[in-house]
Amino acid sequence: MADDVLAGYRVTRQPYYRPVADEVALFEAAYSVRMPMMLKGPTGCGKTRFVEYMAWKLSRPLITVACHEDMTASDLVGRFLLEASGTRWQDGPLALAARHGAICYLDEVVEARQDTTVVIHPLTDNRRVLPLEKKGELVRAHPDFQIVISYNPGYQSLMKDLKQSTKQRFGALDFGYPEHAVEAEIVAHETGVSAEVADKLVAIAERARNLKGHGLDEGLSTRMLIHAGSLIAQGVSPLAACGVALVRPITDDPDMRDALDAAVATFF
Ligand code: ADP
Repeated sequence: MADDVLAGYRVTRQPYYRPVADEVALFEAAYSVRMPMMLKGPTGCGKTRFVEYMAWKLSRPLITVACHEDMTASDLVGRFLLEASGTRWQDGPLALAARHGAICYLDEVVEARQDTTVVIHPLTDNRRVLPLEKKGELVRAHPDFQIVISYNPGYQSLMKDLKQSTKQRFGALDFGYPEHAVEAEIVAHETGVSAEVADKLVAIAERARNLKGHGLDEGLSTRMLIHAGSLIAQGVSPLAACGVALVRPITDDPDMRDALDAAVATFF
């Protein structure tokens, strides 16, 4: 019965996930004790895909929330809706997951304001409860419920960081760009380009990643390589595909753009 509520959140098809180290076994062990987990790493390196894969492997529904700075606690917990016949309570995604036993994935949680983040605290310690203050209800988390957050350590500033009191409630797994051969395998699998093209795309990314902190704020992500590969698989020339999917999105600086275009031209 309860599971029907979450029918739309089931991961029914196995997502493609290429394990990089022992993250699958570690996450399984963490889930078996329902440890709240933090997936750390730059954008586009596989965190979301990993949690989708783990939800499939553990046969748990997955409720994902993209966090942003205007998000309020009510967006997570729920609110009363006005209807013709009166008011009706609607669980937010966190309450839904806690009540019915889903994995709740809060993506880029550092984007949310700190007063929003603290609503997860009572769910992340032994209490495993979620107070719905407006409704006057204390939800006891379903035994299958787990909370997972993603966190990009590169983005934090003094204004925007997770409080220690939040961080210390989680176990954490580090994600980074996979090593060359593995990343090429992922790019080839996701886009259908040849191993040779995938290999070159990864080599370009590695060059660009060396420029992080020297004119580039972020490394070129696996996601961007997949964009480039998909364009190439559509018949776009590799030079144009890399311009559109790799170089233009990552920099607005004309000198950096020319330097990256030149790097691409040495491969294609
Ligand atoms: P993040 O959540 O870290 O921002 P995603 O999980 O959305 O990034 O990863 C971006 C894309 O990169 C995914 O859609 C997937 O195609 C690919 N990807 C990255 N790492 C892996 C991996 N280890 N196995 C399979 N696909 C991966």
